[in-house]
Amino acid sequence: MLYQRSSRLFAEAQEVIPGGVNSPVRAFKAVGGTPVFVKEAKGAYLYDEDGNRLIDYINSWGPMILGHAYEPVVNAVVERAKKGTSFGMPTELETEIARLAVSMVPNIDKIRFVNSGTEACMSAVRLARGYTGREKIIKFSGCYHGHSDAFLIQAGSGAVTFGTPNSPGVTQGTAKDTLLAKYNDIDNVTSLFEANENEIAAIIIEPVAGNMGCIPPKEGFLQALRDLCDANGTLLIFDEVMTGFRLAKGGAQELFGIKADIVTFGKVIGGGLPVGAFAARKEIMDYLAPVGPVYQAGTLSGNPLAMAAGLEMLKAINRDNEIFKRLDEKTAYLEKGIREKLDTENIEYTINRTGSMISVHFSNTPVTDFLSASSGDNDTFKKFFHGLLKEGAYIAPSAYETWFITDALTYQDLDFTINAVGKIAPQLK
Ligand SMILES: *Cc1c(COP(=O)(O)O)cnc(C)c1O
Repeated sequence: MLYQRSSRLFAEAQEVIPGGVNSPVRAFKAVGGTPVFVKEAKGAYLYDEDGNRLIDYINSWGPMILGHAYEPVVNAVVERAKKGTSFGMPTELETEIARLAVSMVPNIDKIRFVNSGTEACMSAVRLARGYTGREKIIKFSGCYHGHSDAFLIQAGSGAVTFGTPNSPGVTQGTAKDTLLAKYNDIDNVTSLFEANENEIAAIIIEPVAGNMGCIPPKEGFLQALRDLCDANGTLLIFDEVMTGFRLAKGGAQELFGIKADIVTFGKVIGGGLPVGAFAARKEIMDYLAPVGPVYQAGTLSGNPLAMAAGLEMLKAINRDNEIFKRLDEKTAYLEKGIREKLDTENIEYTINRTGSMISVHFSNTPVTDFLSASSGDNDTFKKFFHGLLKEGAYIAPSAYETWFITDALTYQDLDFTINAVGKIAPQLK
């Protein structure tokens, strides 16, 4: 495949945009080469500026769970746009999507919409601190909760890809209130509670980690966190920006049967438009302005185009009782196929998967936390990425990312991809 036009566009972009991109991972630094510039997309396919068709395994990092340019969402946005694109005043549409989201997700009474997952997580932590009157939070190494200061401490994906886990510009003052724990290590979390008695406002966690590859929680881990929070007056925040409306209608809370105190959303909930949200029981949410003392606001929050897109997306997921089963089956099929091809060539690898989140690690040890995720062989990953790209399948340009399977994929697409893995496997040794 040729990337002449993408190369030229990338060179031009670099003159006026730092690194040529508006979000770092897009720049291909971890895998080398030229980022693919997208012209358009439909269903499971991307069409790039050089005329190549790629099967998309990233799907805008999650939102396009029903495929690109999904018609009900596109139509809703177009119709809505004709009636005005922003008012800074309430609309009925906001209540409609809020009501639907609250009905789908367990343990939440109220939800507030913002413009990104970053904003949702940042606001959730402020709310938890305001509600508990405490300042410290626990986050896990390798988990990503957006780029706000408090979270840029061993933050997974982009931040790790660039080897700058602690970003300049984040103050010592901010960093001291973020306690770092090891994913899947409950003893480690317990010791943080012992050392910071009555000081921890919240634990924030990706209930299935997706920003250091896909790392499922060990059996009992989330329940143990729940118990620790209950015993210490600490709130449990599930960052479901990735897992929400992807692993089940009610997200990871439903899948694992664990109650969180505050839940954050992004990605799928916006149907491909810039949307985030955070939600909780009534008494916690009513701690927010204008009812309560914790301030949080947004000029474009609840934007009618974004809400129209999100509403159609949630409706589509809500009316389809088979969607999560189908996604799970498709992803399991892909996993099995890739395993067979890599086994044939005796490649050392680990595949992790929960539902439609999956990652391939070139590592001979189980990948259960940030340390084990970092032990993957990046040179092999680079060959794997570029090999698949050449064959016409687009996976994330970093070993620290999850693939997001879309329901638009057919079994033919999956077979095509599995065969592509078979073709490139001999070069991975
Ligand atoms: C993507 C992501 C975020 C950040 O969302 P943005 O919309 O990119 O700001 C936060 N948490 C998790 C788990 C994510 O995957």
